[in-house]
Amino acid sequence: MLIVPEREIAGLMTRQAAFDAVESVFAAMAAGDAYNFPVVREAIGHEDALYGFKGGFDRTGLTLGLKAGGYWPNNLEKRGLINHQSTVFLFDPDTGKPSAMVGGNLLTALRTAAASSVSIKHLARADAKVIGMIGAGHQAAFQLRAALEQRSFEKVIGWNYHPEMLPNIEKVAVEAGVPFKAVELDGMTEADVIISITSAFEPSLMARHVSPGTHVACMGTDTKGKQEVESALLAGARVFTDEVAQSVTIGEAQHAVAEGLISQSDVAQLGAVINGTYEGRSADDQITLFDGTGVGLQDLAVAAAVVDLAVEKGIAIKVDF
Ligand code: NAD
Repeated sequence: MLIVPEREIAGLMTRQAAFDAVESVFAAMAAGDAYNFPVVREAIGHEDALYGFKGGFDRTGLTLGLKAGGYWPNNLEKRGLINHQSTVFLFDPDTGKPSAMVGGNLLTALRTAAASSVSIKHLARADAKVIGMIGAGHQAAFQLRAALEQRSFEKVIGWNYHPEMLPNIEKVAVEAGVPFKAVELDGMTEADVIISITSAFEPSLMARHVSPGTHVACMGTDTKGKQEVESALLAGARVFTDEVAQSVTIGEAQHAVAEGLISQSDVAQLGAVINGTYEGRSADDQITLFDGTGVGLQDLAVAAAVVDLAVEKGIAIKVDF
């Protein structure tokens, strides 16, 4: 069995490798070659922790396994550790023997950023120039860094519920050589692409804040009850997702579906667009919306990619198991 420790991931994994892994696995999911197992998430009654498993099998990439982990709210204060902790375990699909154990913390941010980037590649207008960010926390920086590689963006605009956090994303824009401007939500109408990545339970981005032709990637809503954008925005958009079952239950579409504004059949898999079996954007004035809920297969795909890189560079630790 191979071990790739968390400390090695930053030096091994590239944004491009994460993008390629996530794009391929979305395509495999839509083709019926890969599927996610039901998610387990439990409050364990210790340290207020939420712990769970996200697993799946990709027959094309021959990737079988799970991500185990969750959220330990006291880690940072009590122990100086980050609160989100996860580890990916991969298994040999021919034998069931464990093949790798991989640090999953940084990989989670990279695979989530890759998902919105894949949506921008396939759904945003080719001439998109202004990218808007709703959110400025840990994930937002990864999201923006990856998204800037998908189009020739000339400007980043940002809004955050906690405005004092905006320098987190301004730094990313400046490092990429793209000017940044903080805006009110009304100013988001200037954006050609908008990424929302917050932990909100009430919508901030309303339909009136989004211009025709915009691509919106909603990346923060991954739990029942969370909501980042007004349901009416989905009703007026072409809606795509990583996995339809998750989108309508724990994703952004849960609200529009519950309110009867759209139905499950209005939500399409992004992978089908990648495969060319479903039409993506078909007009420059359409609003497209990607509901990125986060699936276990994304974690397995990036973990498998990083194992290959670790083997190539002689960094993977081999243990007899
Ligand atoms: P974080 O704590 O670093 O940042 C939270 C962000 O949400 C900040 O911008 C904060 O200002 C904003 N926020 C907090 N309360 C708000 C409110 N009431 N209204 C509007 N905005 C508010 O968290 P993070 O690590 O950046 O994660 C952000 C979200 O992304 C979380 O909800 C997390 O569960 C989700 N997430 C999704 C995926 C996925 O695959 N879709 C993967 C990882 C994380």
